[in-house]
Amino acid sequence: MRAGEELDRLGITKAIVLSTPRQANLAAEFARDIGERAAIIYPGAAMHTPVEVTESALDAVRSVGANGILSVGGGSTTGLGKAVALRLDLPQLVVPTTFAGSEMTPILGQTERGLKTTIRSAKVLPKTVIYDPDLVMTMPPEIAGPSGMNAIAHAVEALYPPDVSPVSLLIAEEAIRALGTSLPVVVTTKNDKSAWADALYGAWLAGICLGTVGMALHHKICHTLGGTFNLDHAGIHCLMLPYSAGYNRDAAPDAMRRAARALGAEDAPTALYDLMRQLGTHTTLRDFGLTLADLDRAADLAVANPYWNPRPVERAAVREMLQNAYTGKRP
Ligand code: NAD
Repeated sequence: MRAGEELDRLGITKAIVLSTPRQANLAAEFARDIGERAAIIYPGAAMHTPVEVTESALDAVRSVGANGILSVGGGSTTGLGKAVALRLDLPQLVVPTTFAGSEMTPILGQTERGLKTTIRSAKVLPKTVIYDPDLVMTMPPEIAGPSGMNAIAHAVEALYPPDVSPVSLLIAEEAIRALGTSLPVVVTTKNDKSAWADALYGAWLAGICLGTVGMALHHKICHTLGGTFNLDHAGIHCLMLPYSAGYNRDAAPDAMRRAARALGAEDAPTALYDLMRQLGTHTTLRDFGLTLADLDRAADLAVANPYWNPRPVERAAVREMLQNAYTGKRP
C-alpha cells in the first residue's frame, strides 16, 4: 500500500479514515498501514450522502483535529469525504473500491429530507487517487455489475452534451469499450485480474467524463429516483441506462453510433439492455419496489427544472420511458 507515502506528500499528519460500515475492516487495515497518521476511523458513510451523516463525521474530525481525509470505498465513502472537504477545506486522498468514478469529479450530491441536490466545487475534488485492482476485486457480482454500468452511464452521457470536445469523445468511447468488454468477464470469473484492471481503467475514464462535461436526462432521472425513493444508486443507473439511451436514440444519432461501435453492436440502447440484463440484479422498476404512483411523482420531479438533453424532456415521454422500465420492455 502507498497510502502513507501519499498522505505525507499531501502534508496530512492526522487523517480521518472514512468507509461504509460494511468496509470497516478495510478502513482498519488502512489505518494500521498508515500508523500514526490515522487520527480516527469513521466507518459511517451511507448512500446518497445524507447531511446528518456528514454532520456526525464533522464532529469526529473536530474531536481529533484531523487535517486531512483518507476515503477508502465506493461513491458513498468518497461522497462523505467530499462533503467534509467542502465544509472544512481539507485535502483528500481517495482509494476507490467500486467503479462509481466520483473520485475524478468536482461534484457532490447530498440528501436532505429526501431531496438530493448536487453542487460543483473545486473544493471537493480529491488531491490524490490510488487505483488498485486488488481492492475492486472483492466486489461480489451483484455490486460489481451495476457499479460498472453506472460508469458506462457517465461515458454514454458524455457522448452528446453541448460542451462535448474531441478529447472527451475519445475518452468516453474508450471507457465504454473497456467496460463493455471487461464487465461480463468480471461478474462471471472472479479472479481474472486483467479484466478487473480493464474495468477499473474504464471506470477511471468514465469518472473523467462525468467530471468534465455536463450530464443529461439519464443522470437526472437516476438522481430523482435514487434520492427520492432511496434506491441503490448503481442499481438504478444500471436499469435505466438502456431506457434513457432509447429516449435519446433518434435525437443523438452520432452519440448512439459511437456507443454502439464501442460495444461492438448495431444499436446502442438494445446492446445496453442486453448488458443490463447480464449485469443487473434488478431488471425492472417493479423489482425496486416502486409503484405506478411513484412513476408519476418521478416524472413530475424530472421535468420540474429544465435542463439540457438531446431530446426535449417532456413529461408524457418521460412517464412512458419509466413505464417501459417498470415492465422491462426492450427499448
Ligand atoms: P457504495 O459506495 O454505496 O457501495 C455499495 C456497497 O458496496 C457498500 O455497502 C460498500 O461498502 C460495498 N463495497 C464497496 N466496495 C466494495 C468492495 N470492493 N468489495 C465489497 N464491498 C464493497 O456504492 P457506489 O455505487 O460506489 O456509490 C454510490 C454513491 O456514490 C451514491 O451516493 C452516488 O450519488 C455517489 N456518486 C457520486 C458521484 C459524483 O461524482 N459525485 C459519482 C458516482 C457516484
